Amino acid sequence: MYFDELDISDELLDALDAMNFEKCTPIQEQAIPKILEGHDLMGIAQTGTGKTAAYLLPVLDELSHGNYPKDSVNCIIMSPTRELAQQIDQQVEGFAYYLDGVSSVAVYGGNDGIRFEQERKGLELGADIIIATPGRLISHLNGGHIDLKKTSFFILDEADRMLDMGFYDDIMKIASYLSDERQTIMFSATMPENIQKLAQNILHNPVEVKIAVSKPAEKIQQTAFLCYEGMKDRIAEKVLSDDSLDRVILFASSKMKVKELSLALKRKGFNVGAMHSDLEQKERDEIMLGFKNRRISILIATDIVSRGIDIDDIQLVINYDVPRDPEDYVHRIGRTARANREGQAVTLVTPRDWQHLLKIEKLIEKEIEKPDLPEDCGEKPQMPSSSGSSKRRYHGKRNRRPSSHSKKASSAPKGRGKSRKPVHKAAKD
Ligand code: AMP
Repeated sequence: MYFDELDISDELLDALDAMNFEKCTPIQEQAIPKILEGHDLMGIAQTGTGKTAAYLLPVLDELSHGNYPKDSVNCIIMSPTRELAQQIDQQVEGFAYYLDGVSSVAVYGGNDGIRFEQERKGLELGADIIIATPGRLISHLNGGHIDLKKTSFFILDEADRMLDMGFYDDIMKIASYLSDERQTIMFSATMPENIQKLAQNILHNPVEVKIAVSKPAEKIQQTAFLCYEGMKDRIAEKVLSDDSLDRVILFASSKMKVKELSLALKRKGFNVGAMHSDLEQKERDEIMLGFKNRRISILIATDIVSRGIDIDDIQLVINYDVPRDPEDYVHRIGRTARANREGQAVTLVTPRDWQHLLKIEKLIEKEIEKPDLPEDCGEKPQMPSSSGSSKRRYHGKRNRRPSSHSKKASSAPKGRGKSRKPVHKAAKD
């Protein structure tokens, strides 16, 4: 389905055109008409499916018609992480570029008092759309900086992730500030019991749309190296020594390991940045920006960036540790081979991780290739049962310090273009 077959405004179509969005993805095709009809919606779709546009486009279209109060927050979007909140905000800017007077503010924790003050002012002046992490929104609600009584749209993005992070009570508290008349839209990659419970509590007669989950893109070439813990650094180094690589994410399971690894790889001359929850927000922003504009080639991170980070052309994802939750594996490697590109995922598996690898293979319904280790890395250990290994040896290239500094121009419109002009028609409620 083409976007111009949807009943959305010409201004939105112009922005989509400028961003080279032509056809709807399946989740967009299913969700947008239902949201435009005013239904509550439960969307089961993972990141990379186009879910953000699936809820932003119909809501922006509604808001642009001007039937909503100009002095109140008309839409709340909840995000589990600051990075995702910023990214949603950027997408709002892109889509709303030609719209007359739709404003947004992103509010998230972990930054200084000045930022909190700026957020407070932004909230009190009234933004149409607020994109917030749960804890920070609660702080602003407690401080009386924001009134949600007239809010018409309540959106939860990556709801399963928010519950994993312990935000159930915060979400219910936020929902209690909202009018029952609101339209609620919830997206989740998975549908475990706690998500079903949340859906029952906050959605009203929802339409359910589902995009097959838990299958990594076909184009990802998945490899597992069976090894002992002490061999991992050498293998990672070998894999990274390919001078055609300038966009790699390496996931490790603890922030300690992230710090250690980034130091070790820096010493060896690799161009790395470390991303973990001990960093100040400013530092995290700088690292993400450096990675986006290719000043940093290798991002070493905890799962903080495994979901919802919108960088399309990651060439390689390395799982230094096997994720405990097989779904996390899918999310991690989903950073590569996006938008139909090719990609590689390499996972380092010790004998202790074997059962976790089997669970992953069961989930993705595929056996991951297990070649011999790269040269000079030693012999792989025997795994408890048949490892399905191949005799192929992995050959990485030798060069290190990958260094492409090119800044790729984005086709998305930048900035909001027009300043906010509040809408004047009667409030929906
Ligand atoms: P999301 O699942 O919302 O994180 O989107 C994944 C990526 O796909 C983002 O880079 C979007 O900008 C891009 N995208 C979303 N919808 C479309 C579309 N219909 N056509 C082309 N790219 C899209």
